[in-house]
Amino acid sequence: MSTLRFKVVEEAFKREPVAITVPKEFPSEYFGKYVFNRTKMSKYLSKDTMNVVVKAIDEGVTLPRNISDHVAAGMKMWAMEMGATHYTHWFQPLTEGTAEKHDSFIEYSGSPLESDILERFSGKLLAQQEPDASSFPSGGIRNTFEARGYTAWDPSSPAFIVEDTLCIPTVFISYTGEALDYKTPLLKSLSAIDKAATEVCKMFDPKVKKVYSFLGWEQEFFLVDQALYSARPDLMLTDRTLMGHESAKNQQLEDHYFGAIPIRVAAFMRELEFEAYRYGIPIKTRHNEVAPNQFEFAPIYGETNLAVDQNLIVMSLMKNIANKHNFRLLLHEKPFDKVNGSGKHCNWSLGTDTGVGLFTPGVTADENLQFVTFLVNTVMAVHKHNALLKASIVSAANALRLGADEAPPAIISVFLGSQMSAVFDKIEESAENNSINMEELRRMKLGLAHVPEILIDNTDRNRTSPFAFTGNRFEFRAVGSSANCSAAMIVLNSVVAAQLVSFTKEVNEKVANGSNKEQAIFATLRRYIKESKLIRFDGNGYSEEWRELAQKRGLDCETSVPIMYDAYTSQQSIDMFKSIGVLNDVELHARNEVKWEVYTKKIQIESRVLGDLSINHIIPVATKYQSMLLDNLYKMKMVFEESKAAELSKDDASLIEEIATHISAIKKEVDAMIEARKVANRIEDSREKAIAYSNSVEPYFNVIRYHVDKLELIVDNEIWPLPKYRELLFIS
Ligand code: ADP
Ligand code: MG
Repeated sequence: MSTLRFKVVEEAFKREPVAITVPKEFPSEYFGKYVFNRTKMSKYLSKDTMNVVVKAIDEGVTLPRNISDHVAAGMKMWAMEMGATHYTHWFQPLTEGTAEKHDSFIEYSGSPLESDILERFSGKLLAQQEPDASSFPSGGIRNTFEARGYTAWDPSSPAFIVEDTLCIPTVFISYTGEALDYKTPLLKSLSAIDKAATEVCKMFDPKVKKVYSFLGWEQEFFLVDQALYSARPDLMLTDRTLMGHESAKNQQLEDHYFGAIPIRVAAFMRELEFEAYRYGIPIKTRHNEVAPNQFEFAPIYGETNLAVDQNLIVMSLMKNIANKHNFRLLLHEKPFDKVNGSGKHCNWSLGTDTGVGLFTPGVTADENLQFVTFLVNTVMAVHKHNALLKASIVSAANALRLGADEAPPAIISVFLGSQMSAVFDKIEESAENNSINMEELRRMKLGLAHVPEILIDNTDRNRTSPFAFTGNRFEFRAVGSSANCSAAMIVLNSVVAAQLVSFTKEVNEKVANGSNKEQAIFATLRRYIKESKLIRFDGNGYSEEWRELAQKRGLDCETSVPIMYDAYTSQQSIDMFKSIGVLNDVELHARNEVKWEVYTKKIQIESRVLGDLSINHIIPVATKYQSMLLDNLYKMKMVFEESKAAELSKDDASLIEEIATHISAIKKEVDAMIEARKVANRIEDSREKAIAYSNSVEPYFNVIRYHVDKLELIVDNEIWPLPKYRELLFIS
């Protein structure tokens, strides 16, 4: 038992929980310790400066330069007191994760000849930087020889400290002004939804001045012992297992979900929570997920831009803290075949500065009409742009999760639940007899007065829906665990904003033509309900019947990832994004280039790793076992007479043959896959290349895996080199 596998299994089994330091104070006392939030600002900034900054954040106006100087000085003082020596502009390039380049605060105090230094941090450095960012993907907007993109401070998300570095959230744009990141269009989409939704709110309550978009993410992930991970080159290089037969027991008993959290994992989770609180991130929920060794964290929801930044901070904290606890954290959407994958449900809602949740059923008739208005418009927006919403969540990795048994297929539909469906039906029917008594409609027939109690009861929930109304918010469940939530939030806020703009226009036109306001609203909603009916589906999203039905309904059923991205550059999407000023034509095309490139690279790397592992890990071991069997066969002949020997080693002989068949199949398929890669690599156009990778390289993965997994069941357990699923999934 000398294989690496046995060593690492032994190491993982012996592992003790890592001791953690439990803070002496209550969370409320150290919450936000590492964040330059409003409380810190009021301590380190003058009252005047503070007022200007708060106004800038709340009203989205640009900060005057002299104010940036004051803020920078206060921020620097706070950061240095916290032990920071460096600062960085922290931004979100179109790759996964975040990017940063650290600079020290030090500068010469006078001329370089005097060579005295001091710590300096000016408003200019706070406000804008020009990182040499030539290697970040830009989809061709920024040629590498003209590598100027710049980062600019986003005062609406507070600066924070990671170890010795002050991190300043920034947008990242090209020299010519196009967005090269997620944050720029996200901020634009948030301002678009604010504007459009505020207009609609004013129909009901003229006091509303601002509408916020809220996001509450639920982050799922897997933990694997670090030793086991290190013996799985596929996990190390691709974040998922490319081979491995399913374990005899996996999640059939569903005994992991909400079960007791394993001790080592509990220590990791507690430490993560303590750290998250210091970053002002209100982690509220932690629990086991459905699959073994799968877990989830969720915070209390917050303003979308802030919630996105917090999710990125948490993803990075989780990785670091997991390492400290001798785990590796997998954010991949489908690390294990035939086991649930990981998502990041994005709970999304809108709320006013007057404290009203726009997806929360109200108490008065007016509030309820407003609630129904937002609900219907959202459904309408999702209907119109279902292909685009799907494109916003899909990736090579997330595609493996969608349409498997734990997630609905790659088709967007909306679940409303029986209560709200009934309300929609009522409004729709009211058209036919055309005798609408507004008062009756609003209060009684709709039954809206009873809605609150019933909706709060969460039993009416359909977990198979990719986009579900859950009582006071929508839950966009199709988002992947490794994603930057911005991609989904940009599209969702944009399509709803554009929809609300059309709604306002239509209602105003009707009013101009003599309708009263309520009639105009109802008539418009009625039309939307009719038109968007096909996106509503309350049945089982996992079923085969749904696939067929969705196809008939004309919903986007595209299954090829590279082709799904086309939805971003359809004329409809270009017009929609342009109408609300979120992304322009050039940006949309460039961003798709990046998506296709990333897709190709991911499949290319997986294909290489799969080929290498098959040839130099699996085949040699299978051959070794085969020769052990052959040896046995040979020795049998020396002990027994020929017919008896043949009789006794019949099974060995057939195993030898079976192994030979799998080995030669693997060799053949790997060769063919390499050939397919070569052909794909010759393609220049990035979309065509991604399609080639999807159509002619990726299909080999399952074929090769099939033979490898069969060998895993045959070959002597003692010599099998890679930690098996039962070890990866059940040791924690
Ligand atoms: P479940 O697993 O039942 O979906 P969780 O409690 O795990 O529920 O997660 C629900 C998430 O939704 C939390 O992040 C919560 O803060 C968030 N949430 C609750 N209400 C809203 C709302 N009005 N808008 C946005 N997010 C919300
Ligand atoms: Mg949920």
